Amino acid sequence: MPARILSGLAVRDQIYAELRRELDELLQAGHQPGLAAVLVGEHPASRLYVRNKMAACQQLGILSELHELPADTSTAALLELVGELNARDEIDGILVQLPLPPQIETGRILEAIDPAKDVDGFHPLNLGRLLEGRPELVACTPAGVMELLRRYHISVAGLHAVVVGRSTIVGKPMALLLLQANATVTVCHSKTRDLAAITRQADLVVVAAGRAALLGPDDIQPGAVVVDVGINTITDAEQAALLFARYPQRLEEFRARGRALVGDVHPDVAEVAGALTPVPGGVGPLTVAMLMVNTVRAARRRRLGSLHPVGSRS
Ligand code: NAD
Repeated sequence: MPARILSGLAVRDQIYAELRRELDELLQAGHQPGLAAVLVGEHPASRLYVRNKMAACQQLGILSELHELPADTSTAALLELVGELNARDEIDGILVQLPLPPQIETGRILEAIDPAKDVDGFHPLNLGRLLEGRPELVACTPAGVMELLRRYHISVAGLHAVVVGRSTIVGKPMALLLLQANATVTVCHSKTRDLAAITRQADLVVVAAGRAALLGPDDIQPGAVVVDVGINTITDAEQAALLFARYPQRLEEFRARGRALVGDVHPDVAEVAGALTPVPGGVGPLTVAMLMVNTVRAARRRRLGSLHPVGSRS
């Protein structure tokens, strides 16, 4: 039986409906949450991500502003802007889009953001709180994965969860959130020996490696839940023919556009897994949705001293 498709779009719509009610309350109390995004240089993917985030703010009625800086911006100049945003009361969330150009010391920038406005959850204080098991502002992509599982009533307690990838943005916070939800967690990475032997033992696999079709149907235990975080653009016709052999419509789309977005799992995993997030339309929309949740949460906390319930349940 093909896998149940876990739709990030459907969950995003639920989250937005709940957020609108939260926002109405805040607006009635005279508080419009504000998000400032900072984009340095010309990175086409980053530009697209930031545009999507700004569009979500507009859709929900969150004040948003975009600061675009040239590619040769110095660490000092960016620190100055972060300082200004920290000081502005109408700004509840500060998002510095990564990756930054190589001359900028990313760690210093992330540490300079006021932890109360750190809606990406990358500040060491927020990462430390997550490690301690009392998370406040959590990285949006792993928080989105937890929200997706929760809303599809997939309980991870007692499951063997395998996370592929150990970045600070996705893999590590993902592993910590799963651990906090009582999964037994294994973290794999580029130096892991015999990855497939480990993923085949998993009840839940979260893949965030950035490698198209890294895991195929033989690497997944039948019935396992598979969350595909990867976003990869493929342009090679032979690769597309292999990936979409069972999906003639997707092959047609590839031929028409000359490219396609694929995840880190082969589409045929849908024949083996019990549940699967699609790419596109899976985790991606939830990353933006959780940024909106974090912004409203930060606003409530800063302005009213209370937390936002969406995404705060485990
Ligand atoms: P990253 O490059 O920082 O980290 C990749 C991780 O994967 C590393 O820890 C590395 O050790 C591991 N890895 C690489 N090749 C591997 C292999 N062959 N076997 C096992 N592990 C391997 O990337 P990231 O920022 O964590 O992002 C990972 C992927 O998730 C990318 O495709 C990125 O585009 C995507 N992403 C998606 C969203 C979303 O909203 N859906 C958000 C963030 C990142």
